Amino acid sequence: MKKEIDFLIVGQGISGSCFAWRVFKEKKTFMIIDSKNPNSSSKAALGIFNPITGRNYIKSWKYNTLYHELMNFYTFIENKLNEKIIFSKKIYRPFKNIADNNSWNSKLSSDKIYPFIDTIHDKGILTKKSGYVDVKKFLSLSKKYFKSLDRYKNDFLNTENLKFEKGYFLYNNKKFKRVIMCRGVEENDHNIFKNINLKALSGNSIKIQAKKNMKSILNNVLNVLPIHKNIFHVGSTYYNDQIDRGPIELEKKTKKKFYQKFKLVKTYFGIRPASPDRRPIIGEHKKNKGLYIFNGMGSKAVSLAPYCSKVLYEYIIEKKNIEVDLNIERFEP
Ligand SMILES: Cc1cc2nc3c(=O)[nH]c(=O)nc-3n(C[C@H](O)[C@H](O)[C@H](O)COP(=O)(O)OP(=O)(O)OC[C@H]3O[C@@H](n4cnc5c(N)ncnc54)[C@H](O)[C@@H]3O)c2cc1C
Repeated sequence: MKKEIDFLIVGQGISGSCFAWRVFKEKKTFMIIDSKNPNSSSKAALGIFNPITGRNYIKSWKYNTLYHELMNFYTFIENKLNEKIIFSKKIYRPFKNIADNNSWNSKLSSDKIYPFIDTIHDKGILTKKSGYVDVKKFLSLSKKYFKSLDRYKNDFLNTENLKFEKGYFLYNNKKFKRVIMCRGVEENDHNIFKNINLKALSGNSIKIQAKKNMKSILNNVLNVLPIHKNIFHVGSTYYNDQIDRGPIELEKKTKKKFYQKFKLVKTYFGIRPASPDRRPIIGEHKKNKGLYIFNGMGSKAVSLAPYCSKVLYEYIIEKKNIEVDLNIERFEP
C-alpha cells in the first residue's frame, strides 16, 4: 500500500473546496470526495459577501478579518486557475421609510459601520468591501483542477467503511493521516459528532432575465445580483425545514421589489447547514483523534470558509487554538 495521504476531505461544497485549497496552498497531500447531492446548499448560493447584515443592519461578525482573508484566498485560487471567480461589487440598500432613514443616520456615526459605507444619498446607501464569488464556477473549476491532479473522486463515504488502524485511516485501500468531514447538513445523518445538532435551513434562489441596467447588488428584502447583461441571480428564501417550496415566493417579491417584467430562467434549491448559535463548527472529534469537522456555515460560507480553513489548518498542523466561538468544544458536555 502507498504512503499515507495527509488529508481525506469529505464533501466538495464551499467548505470542502476551501479546505482543499488551504491544504493545497500549504503543499500537503489530499484527496477530496463528493457524492454530488443535488440539494447541497452550495448549489443554490448567490455567493454574496456583505459587511452589513441582519434585520438590524449590523456589522457581520469578524468582518474585517474575514474580508482580508477571503480576498487573499480567492485571489490565490484565481491565479492558480487563471480564471476570475471573485467580483467586488457595491451593495445598494434603499431606505424603507423615513424612520429607516433616520435610524441609518444614527448608525452611520458608529465606527463599526462607517468603514464599509461607500456613498450615502437621500434614497439609500451603498456599501463597499462587498461583492460575490461565482460559486458554481468556483466549485466546477476546483473539481476539474483537483481531478487533473488525481485528487478528486465522485464517491459517497459510508462512515462504516472508514477504518482506523495503527494511527491512520483506511478508506478504499488508501491510507490517510486525517479525515475532514465537510458534509453540510448530511452530517446529521451519521451521528458521529453527536452533540452538534445542525439545523436544516432550506431555501430557494432563481436566475431571471430582465431588461434592467444595474451595476450594484440590490439588497431590498431580497438580494438581486447582476451576473451578465440582463441576467440576475435573485435570492433567497429561508425555511426551518428541508422542503422545496419552489420559486413562487421569490417571483412575487421580485415583482414587488425589483421589476415587474422578467423571465424565469432557472430555479435552485438548497439546504443550509446552520449551527444552533449560527457560528461555524470546526475542530476535532473528542474521542476519534484525527477526525475533524468543518461545518455550520449557515448563510455565509463564502466569507466564513476561507478564514475557518486557516484556523482549522493551523490547529491541526501548528497546534494553535481554535477560538471559542468556532470550536466544536462549545457543544461538548
Ligand atoms: C438559496 C441560498 C442562497 C445562499 N446564498 C448565499 C450567499 O449569497 N452567500 C453565502 O456566503 N452563502 C449563501 N448561502 C449559504 C451557503 O450556500 C452555505 O453556507 C454553504 O453552501 C455551505 O457549504 P458546505 O460545503 O458546508 O455544505 P454543502 O454545500 O451542503 O456541501 C456538502 C457536500 O458534501 C457532500 N457530501 C455529503 N455527505 C457526503 C458523503 N457521505 N460522502 C461524500 N460526499 C458527501 C454533498 O454531496 C455536498 O456536495 C445560500 C444558501 C442558499 C440555500
